[in-house]
Amino acid sequence: MKNRTLAGHAEAILTRKHWVFDLDGTLTLPVHDFSVIRQALGVPQGIDILGYLASLPDPEAQPLHDKLNAIETELLEQIEPAPGTVQLIEALQRRGSRMGVLTRNTRDIAIRTLDSLGVGGYFPEECILGRGDAPPKPDPEGLFRFCVRWRTVPAEMVMVGDYVFDLQTGRNAGAATIHIDRTRSFLWPELTDIGVSTPEELLQILPA
Ligand SMILES: [Mg+2]
Repeated sequence: MKNRTLAGHAEAILTRKHWVFDLDGTLTLPVHDFSVIRQALGVPQGIDILGYLASLPDPEAQPLHDKLNAIETELLEQIEPAPGTVQLIEALQRRGSRMGVLTRNTRDIAIRTLDSLGVGGYFPEECILGRGDAPPKPDPEGLFRFCVRWRTVPAEMVMVGDYVFDLQTGRNAGAATIHIDRTRSFLWPELTDIGVSTPEELLQILPA
């Protein structure tokens, strides 16, 4: 009985029409080694990179932002889709879903990433919010902006991501959350409505 209720809950979430994705490690295979990036920027280990940069005075922060952009641009060359990414996005498009990306990367790099994954055409530029466009996750503001744009409410929305910030963002906004975790550890069950290992697995459970 419990399983049936859970299954019904999941199905109701999966039929929602408004989908917001994290980008790196969610639609792509993970290429960011954040501890290496922290080291390159002089950010103490365990500290949020964007939060740390935001805490610095501008003259100190700007060169670090430039360096971070350079690192992320370099990583573009290694971008590969996670298994099932293209098929999942195509399936959601066929169902008439609205889709957006909310990333702590820059919008410019996000656009180039989506193009290199082969799904750029499904995400209008105004539906890609980077770190310059909305307060960084886990702030829910980015999701609220999608709500305004799509004339919907968080209760009609799904946030999909691979990290705790993505899940917190969904929870903070009142949206459903889907955790994509290749290791299937699912470390944040209290923040997760549905857990899958890949976009491919998500596609498999998507109601027709
Ligand atoms: Mg991510």
